Amino acid sequence: MAENGNKGFSTRCIHAGESLDVQGGIHLPLYNHSTFAFENTGKLLDVVEGRNPDGNLYTRYGLNPTIRGLEKKCASLEGGEGCLAFSSGMAAEAATFLAHCNAGDHIICIGDVYGGTYDLLNENLPTLGIETTFVLGHELDDLPRQFREKTRLVFFETPTNPNLEVLDIRRIAAVAKTHGALTVVDNTFASPVNQQPLERGADIVVHSATKYLGGHSDLTGGLVIASAELLAPIWVWRKNLGQMMAPEVAFLLARSLRTLSVRVKAQNRSAQQIAEFLQQQSCVLRVNYPGLKDFAGHVVASEQMSGFGGMLSFVFDGDAAATAAVVDRLRLFSIAASLGGVESLVTQPITTTHYAMLPEERERRGIPDGMVRLSVGLEDVEDLIADLRQALG
Ligand code: PLP
Repeated sequence: MAENGNKGFSTRCIHAGESLDVQGGIHLPLYNHSTFAFENTGKLLDVVEGRNPDGNLYTRYGLNPTIRGLEKKCASLEGGEGCLAFSSGMAAEAATFLAHCNAGDHIICIGDVYGGTYDLLNENLPTLGIETTFVLGHELDDLPRQFREKTRLVFFETPTNPNLEVLDIRRIAAVAKTHGALTVVDNTFASPVNQQPLERGADIVVHSATKYLGGHSDLTGGLVIASAELLAPIWVWRKNLGQMMAPEVAFLLARSLRTLSVRVKAQNRSAQQIAEFLQQQSCVLRVNYPGLKDFAGHVVASEQMSGFGGMLSFVFDGDAAATAAVVDRLRLFSIAASLGGVESLVTQPITTTHYAMLPEERERRGIPDGMVRLSVGLEDVEDLIADLRQALG
């Protein structure tokens, strides 16, 4: 059971994984130590042999109080039995794939995924004999036919980047289960405030904590949340690849998580208003936001998400250069990759996240030159709308 499982989400953001230290510090202290000492060999062996599961030993193993506290908080927020913290989102994903797939195994990846994930699945894992089939979101009816005898994992993000396509977690997890495969959901875009994939049948949740969970564009980290049984092999890969989150980062992330709920709810509200504003502009051909009633994913999103998120994209009625000019005129939105921070960001996917993708493939995935992606921050929404109005004008 997740710690504080019967308490509300905001309460768990603040209290889960926290305990007073010997000095009475009000929240999780930073233990930067790489190693921990024992009074005697018996006590060391209690930790090494698992009789003292809360014992500290060596930070790369995760046996460090700051990391453990952070992991308890994150497990609680995603409703999972346990959590492992990593040095980045990519490290979390890589360890998950390596721990649950061997040479000859097969993965199904659905919809658009982050470019680094695509490279890992498409370039790196095949060198280890692990193959991935990529299925687009609108090809879901064909999903059952994509399973092979050795399909181990089904992986997807929802909402997706940059089209904000909404994939039905319950539906996909049910199909995966009948084929004996695990469902892994990257919950980075939604955050656990808006979406709880484990509740809907997913087996494993991964995060780039660099985004909403960190929330201030000042840390890089990753998480995997799942049952103790599914985490056990991932723990071994993390230990042996040395992909541990640094204690300073765990401390900073725990600090950020205490405000996660209020941050994300405010970002949800502003993104909805901005999406509705953009929809009214004649120079905007399409707005992708799950909170818009006429958006394709709205029905599934309304059922599966408790908020529609701070990410949206729109298609400007212009070529690549005219769209870049709109982006360049923005003053409050910074031109930057990444997302989920307190400051609003803008990116033209063809110049960043989808730069390396062939134009034919972008076209197949519905990513035109005029597409602009926004990560809505915590500035006053009136100021953000005024900035967009002058840039589009
Ligand atoms: N998943 C998603 C949805 C992302 O957007 C990113 C990074 O942009 C990652 C995973 C990888 O995370 P990190 O940069 O923390 O390794």
